[in-house]
Amino acid sequence: MNKELLSSLIEEKKDIFAEISDKIWEFAEPAFQEKKSSRLQMEKLREEGFEITEGIAGIPTAFKASCGSGKPVIAFLGEYDALPMLSQKADATKKEEETAGSCGHGCGHQLLGTGSVQAAVAVKDYIEKAGLGGTVLYFGCPAEEGEAGKAFMLKGHAFDGCDICLTWHPYTMHVCSMSSLANARVKYTFKGISAHAATSPHLGRSALDAVELMNVGCNYLREHIPTDCRLHYAITNTGGDAPNVVQAKAEVLYAIRAPRNTDTVSLVERVNKVARGAAMMTETDVDIEICSAYADLIPNKTLNELVLKNMNEFSNIPYTGEDMDYAKKYRELADADEIRRIKGTAQKFLGEKAEAVLGQPVSKLILPPVGLKQGSNDVGDVSQCIPTACFSSACFALGTALHTWQAVAQGKSSIAHKGMFFAAQVLAATAVNLLENPDIVEKAKADLAETMDGRRYESMIPAGQKPAILKEQ
Ligand SMILES: [Zn+2]
Repeated sequence: MNKELLSSLIEEKKDIFAEISDKIWEFAEPAFQEKKSSRLQMEKLREEGFEITEGIAGIPTAFKASCGSGKPVIAFLGEYDALPMLSQKADATKKEEETAGSCGHGCGHQLLGTGSVQAAVAVKDYIEKAGLGGTVLYFGCPAEEGEAGKAFMLKGHAFDGCDICLTWHPYTMHVCSMSSLANARVKYTFKGISAHAATSPHLGRSALDAVELMNVGCNYLREHIPTDCRLHYAITNTGGDAPNVVQAKAEVLYAIRAPRNTDTVSLVERVNKVARGAAMMTETDVDIEICSAYADLIPNKTLNELVLKNMNEFSNIPYTGEDMDYAKKYRELADADEIRRIKGTAQKFLGEKAEAVLGQPVSKLILPPVGLKQGSNDVGDVSQCIPTACFSSACFALGTALHTWQAVAQGKSSIAHKGMFFAAQVLAATAVNLLENPDIVEKAKADLAETMDGRRYESMIPAGQKPAILKEQ
């Protein structure tokens, strides 16, 4: 690989991509409604000579961009959805909404998608200059947050024919490999009988009572599930705001997480039993619907080694004194326990060197695969079918948690952009390595087969189910 050539290709277009990322931050469109964000990326990719297929897998804001030909087929995955209720003024150091009640980019997906587009464009430019063969794809993937967009794209065969998928995620640290929990989002709808709560309570059967009893039951169940599983819920319909009417309908949405897809299936069944018990106690009926589901992310040893090599190769991110002063303001806002937790993780892998982490407002350390399973990510579904690499790049001050106003506030900053350029560089270098050495592609495929050990990917989303928003249309 000609490192200088690739670096210069990333460098020469970086201002354009910083601007695209900032615009997507401003659009802040939620799951499946990313019309302007996906359009902006498509326009740029078309201008750069990619062929675009819109609305893939029947999802209006999903698209595929393609260039080159033949094998191997290397795909970059990008996202652009924002989170509800996280509107925040850029660069503010206190919580201050930009537009009341609106969405905000609390997970950095404006950087995630744009960094992957930047990598795809750089690899296309490199292929042309170096005369390399192979196909480069970019997938615009909507609705990572809560809706598992990629799981629906997989069901629609969007990724068929890909040899390798490469992606990343903005974070507070550079980590070579992300890992994630399997997760099912299950909606429990209880139906009872309404009645006057004072004059004829004996005629009523309360759906809200059922929701409350189910939640109490699950809070007891929590004691008897493996410690690395997670249960949490939101009451999405309380059945009305009149206390004198027995609630005839109420709904609760559960996120049920476990380290592996198969563990989630059995945990969902246990939660279902609690729901049925609550229905029996209250003489109500319960409908159970799996709305979306995420598989756990399967790390790929071969791809991780390649990514780690490239992360170390390009780790000299040119932060300025101004960047450090900016990050310091947010570093001071970070939770002390969170910093301690980060330090503990870093120490486990880097020993003494980890001490340096605490002194820096932005982490410059490159961590090897840490194997920590925390949130859930629909890249997991892809990783069970196609060898996939997913690393994180520090785009926020050390200790900044995702899905917070602090992460939104830093989303257009110079440190966020530099984290994105670094990610684009690592993604592009990894793709070039793979295009130049197709034998590594085969090795990565063998790794995946070995890890899956005969297991076949099966999404928990029932066959024929559409994403919630598309069902309503
Ligand atoms: Zn995210």
